[in-house]
Amino acid sequence: MTVATSILDAITVSETEGRAIPDAATRETIGYAPVHTVADLDAAVAAARQAQPAWNALGHEERSRILNAIADDLEANAEELAQLLSREQGKPLDGPNARFEVGACAVWTRTAADTPLEPEVVFEAGESRAEVHYDALGVVGAIGPWNWPMMISVWQIAPSLRMGNTVVVKPSEFTPLSVLALAEVYNRHLPDGVLTVVSGDREVGAAIAGHPGIDKIMFTGSTATGRRIVESSAGNLARLTLELGGNDAGIVLAGTDPAAIAEDLFWGCFINTGQTCAALKRLYVHDSVYDEVVDTLAGMALTSPMGRGLDEGNVLGPLQNEKQFDIVRGLVDDARERGARVVVGGEAAPELGPLFYRATVVADIEDGARLVDEEQFGPAIPVIRYSDVDDAIRRANASTQGLGASVWSADVDAAVEVAKRLQAGTVWINQHGALNPMVPFGGTKASGYGQEFGVAGLKAVAAPKVISR
Ligand code: NAD
Repeated sequence: MTVATSILDAITVSETEGRAIPDAATRETIGYAPVHTVADLDAAVAAARQAQPAWNALGHEERSRILNAIADDLEANAEELAQLLSREQGKPLDGPNARFEVGACAVWTRTAADTPLEPEVVFEAGESRAEVHYDALGVVGAIGPWNWPMMISVWQIAPSLRMGNTVVVKPSEFTPLSVLALAEVYNRHLPDGVLTVVSGDREVGAAIAGHPGIDKIMFTGSTATGRRIVESSAGNLARLTLELGGNDAGIVLAGTDPAAIAEDLFWGCFINTGQTCAALKRLYVHDSVYDEVVDTLAGMALTSPMGRGLDEGNVLGPLQNEKQFDIVRGLVDDARERGARVVVGGEAAPELGPLFYRATVVADIEDGARLVDEEQFGPAIPVIRYSDVDDAIRRANASTQGLGASVWSADVDAAVEVAKRLQAGTVWINQHGALNPMVPFGGTKASGYGQEFGVAGLKAVAAPKVISR
């Protein structure tokens, strides 16, 4: 395959100026990302503050027109963006991976542009009337993770720009090139200072969280970092949207046909090789269908091609970084040592590259095992047997996390009744992790607070103002 590099050429700096960013699969250097400092952050925030009034003054219609032009440009450059994303993040081009992620960037940009948000009349009596208007907040600081770096950045940037804010974005130190490439396309259409990428290390992220020039933080990442951001934001009272970690449970009810749910169940667990916040991370299966579900998942794990992302046909890739590889390996080893049954996988795949770990299904495992209780964020799913649905619901809810959950059954009404009792920001029926740019998404409990997408997402990056007469 010929790898297109014009955007990469535009964003990469020289070897002496930048940090080498490896291809996640081969570990060869793709390019060099700038290493910005807190002083660079200060300059970016100052530029964003200066640019914000004029950007806000353009009005919704003009900003929406610009965002739609950006979405067109993302589509026109989709293959180059997908190739870069695939190399840096590791996700294959095919399957629900790199091309899918770039496509979602265009869709979410367009939806942020086109979603109407009119003032709301909240009280009316005689001559009295109260309306809520949604103003720009000012400067938004966007801090993102390495698993869906382009798409999650768009979730943070597009609604913020639409609402008249300017944005300073800090990508994960593992995937700066993907976000720089995304911003390179955005910035072909934006005035100077409206969107700036500060490609720094964790201390730059920490400085954003407490920066006096930043009015709102959109953060997606781990719960541990989320807690630090809450503390840092005390000084400037920055508004926060926190999309944090998950340990999503799925419950397969008695009477479910495993073949009918196989495909969606598998991708619920293994999308982006399991490195997805709202992936299915522990699966509770009724005793009557347990063996069949385990065998079905194991069959798909064995037959789903894993390898370098740029090689067409692969649908599973490597872990993005060594730290995550060690976490996944450690949790599966721990499960094995406790006597759980590794049905397939359970080992690295060094012939594919240093960070590949085979798609793994672990059966005969219980709550209390680290693979069940902790977020694996990788290609290893524990399948837990249950016989009483009340017990399964209790165990699903026992987690400190509450991002997503799912219920699987041919009887959708029965599934909805179970869904009502689960503690999560989203409960899916017969699917897991499916997102829609108009449907609010966010977590409960330690998975964070605030919602993204749709009208709720626009309001989250706006200052509500009541006009009362
Ligand atoms: P992370 O928390 O380690 O890093 C996220 C970002 O925060 C990075 O850009 C990092 O540089 C920055 N950062 C680090 N320290 C900081 C600080 N003190 N203040 C401000 N920023 C700081 O997370 P990660 O390893 O990149 O991502 C994986 C985690 O993200 C998983 O737990 C996953 O579940 C979660 N996640 C959640 C969602 C969601 O929508 N809820 C989506 C994707 C990932």
